[in-house]
Amino acid sequence: MSKRLAIVVPCYNEEEVLDDTVVKLCGVISDLIIKKKIDNDSFILFVDDGSKDKTWEKIEAANKSFKYVKGLKLAGNVGHQNALLAGLMYAKDISDATVSIDADLQDDIDAIEKMSDLWDTGCDIVYGVRSSRETDSFFKRTTAQGFYKVMKLMGVKSVYNHADFRLMTKRAVEGLEQFKERNLFLRGIVPTIGYKTECVYYERKERMAGESKYPLKKMLAFAFDGITSFSTKPMTFIMGLGILMIVFAFIMSIYSLLRRASGNVIVGWTSLWLAMWFIGGIITFSIGLVGEYIGKIYLEVKERPRYIVEKELD
Ligand code: UDP
Ligand code: MG
Repeated sequence: MSKRLAIVVPCYNEEEVLDDTVVKLCGVISDLIIKKKIDNDSFILFVDDGSKDKTWEKIEAANKSFKYVKGLKLAGNVGHQNALLAGLMYAKDISDATVSIDADLQDDIDAIEKMSDLWDTGCDIVYGVRSSRETDSFFKRTTAQGFYKVMKLMGVKSVYNHADFRLMTKRAVEGLEQFKERNLFLRGIVPTIGYKTECVYYERKERMAGESKYPLKKMLAFAFDGITSFSTKPMTFIMGLGILMIVFAFIMSIYSLLRRASGNVIVGWTSLWLAMWFIGGIITFSIGLVGEYIGKIYLEVKERPRYIVEKELD
């Protein structure tokens, strides 16, 4: 079996960490080649996501001095997820498996060898999972973990505490290619591909240099995108709310009729009160119902593959 590995690294304004990252990842590749775990034409693909600093110049220089380094420059900034997708699509045609990792190497590069070992045992997708988040700030940790919980609640298949550090074989990436959606949330899509999967656990480190390219605003947008790209549950929730309001209106109608019978109410109170709850309930329910249809349209326009074939016998 040929085992050409590609490490795909999206980079946005990463000039401060790049030199270090290049050396460390080249070390990983040559180490694995020496151990005969991967082929010697394995490589690292740096994807420059429209950086404004010297990132691309650094990639070019690294490409000249290190034989394992390849580069891909995107015409503009398209965001982490799209940059990663670009790298995966480019790498899949010239490799047998890809490992995606962030340029700041917060994820443990030693886990790459474990991933490669699991690839040997027939896994198509290996997730890198953070066993602890001690190096993250309290704020980042709580928001991130809250996010994974909400995702689960919303019925999105995702791997807890896994970011985009993972190994995918060529056919897994080909499966991913069939997802045509524009709102890309890889962590949600990859688990729906299927195949044999496994996790490796590691400690997450602090960023080597530079600052996070995911400030709170981007993180919230990312979380919101993740949920609305996968789940139509928020709409079902609105519909449920409408039903609850109508039920409440029925209960209230009994109560207010009883009060009216007892005589001590202001004239007009009963009818206004009931109208408010009934109409409110019906409107909320209707919005939810319309939302359900929009949700269906939404899922249709994504044109996701309905299945991915793993093997054929004939
Ligand atoms: N990144 C990118 N395009 C962007 C933003 C980020 O390619 O528009 C890359 C960035 O260079 C890094 C990875 O995505 O390799 C993750 O970003 P970062 O480490 O800043 O995120 P954090 O670890 O703070 O969540
Ligand atoms: Mg980072």
